[in-house]
Amino acid sequence: MNHEQIKKVFLETCPKSIDFIALRFIKNKAKYCSVKNSFPHSNSLVTDKGIQVEVLHGGQFSYAATHDISPHGIKSAIKRAILLNEQSLKWNLFPFSLRTRPKFEKAQKESSSKSLGKETTLGEINDVLSLACGVMKKETAVIHSEGHGSLRNIETYHITSNGDEDLNTRGLLDFSLKAIAQSNNDIQTRTWGNTLQLGSSFFQKELFKKEASRIAKEAIDLANAPECPSEAMDVILLPDQMILQIHESIGHPLELDRILGDERNYAGLSFIKKENFGQYQYGSPKLNITFDPTVETEAASYTLDDTGVKASKEFIIKEGKLLRGLGSLESQERSRLKGVACSRMSSWNRPPIDRMANLNLEPGETSFESMVSNMKRGVIMATNKSWSIDDYRNKFQFGCEYAQLVEDGRPTKIVKNPNYRGITTPFWHKLKEVGNQKSREIFGTPYCGKGEPNQAIEVGHASPACLFENVEVFGGA
Ligand SMILES: [Zn+2]
Repeated sequence: MNHEQIKKVFLETCPKSIDFIALRFIKNKAKYCSVKNSFPHSNSLVTDKGIQVEVLHGGQFSYAATHDISPHGIKSAIKRAILLNEQSLKWNLFPFSLRTRPKFEKAQKESSSKSLGKETTLGEINDVLSLACGVMKKETAVIHSEGHGSLRNIETYHITSNGDEDLNTRGLLDFSLKAIAQSNNDIQTRTWGNTLQLGSSFFQKELFKKEASRIAKEAIDLANAPECPSEAMDVILLPDQMILQIHESIGHPLELDRILGDERNYAGLSFIKKENFGQYQYGSPKLNITFDPTVETEAASYTLDDTGVKASKEFIIKEGKLLRGLGSLESQERSRLKGVACSRMSSWNRPPIDRMANLNLEPGETSFESMVSNMKRGVIMATNKSWSIDDYRNKFQFGCEYAQLVEDGRPTKIVKNPNYRGITTPFWHKLKEVGNQKSREIFGTPYCGKGEPNQAIEVGHASPACLFENVEVFGGA
């Protein structure tokens, strides 16, 4: 069925007596390719589609979903969502108002779709990854090389009994390269990867060859390097580690549904309390965090969230002060706190919940070079290798793949197994310098997980390099 046919069946079936009904049709077309040591490892094409019906009636939400996209399937899903609503109404825990499902803030019929550009075949991705693996294996100390690439086209058609309609299509690119080197009785790994909303033209041979050569050499350098020293010192985190720091110690603790207790059985709670918003000093005055689904290529950019709320850039933390949470209109109504357009679902068979989307650390004024030259003794760390943080998102210990010492303002030797630990807000108070626009990079991951049943979804984080003073650093883990 095409969108017009789905719309016709939906509008004919929706009873006028129900306060609000929405239908979301989601089609996810994906291609995955992985290569190990230049040999094709797996190739797959996946198409997944279905519809979800959401009912809000008498203050109670209810959902039904089906992969049967026929008039019968749509009618049955609507009937089932209404039946579930009738049955669950007497157990209602919070009476949601219709303000949680407002009219879409956009011109009628305007589509939030983007052009996805020319399609790249699995064969073309395989060729680029094989070439990259070959470059890595040229180094005799590299004992394993692998590459992964995927392209997803996600189409969401959303209609409501309010008369609203939106079609959104976006392309999501995900890739990674890995080099494992053995030397000097040690084995070390170096990776390169990202998740972005970019056309498939990103799979360029020259770029992948260059990065493959770099990570292969760095993996060998690490295997031959001394351990990272264990002492309190200044640390510069590069953007590909900053994204993990932002994600785990700012993003998750500021999700309003988590603060309200929805995630306590699964992802955990938060050390942040409702009364902290508007006054809590989360970090140093250099800390500026924005929720920004408007950045063109970032993984979780969109015009409307999955409940039709217009996405806009909002300061979550400004000059270190906590201003608002990551919460949908439902969470905003429950908590009476300000939130953002962050209601998202991972697929047609999952309800929308509070998600991070793009959560970015805004650039400062300091050049990377002056950050290093002003450092007496410290370490530069890159690329997350391991992470551990408690379920209140407070005490953490993170490890990186790669590090280089800084002594008397100059980068000196490479050190392996660099780690650091801290407690969330004291750590963000140690933020001394924020890199300028030149050191800013955009990263993303498709694997942020929360919700029961689990919802893995893509999130984006952009950050410059950042300098933290007097951090507990240790090696050997
Ligand atoms: Zn996550």
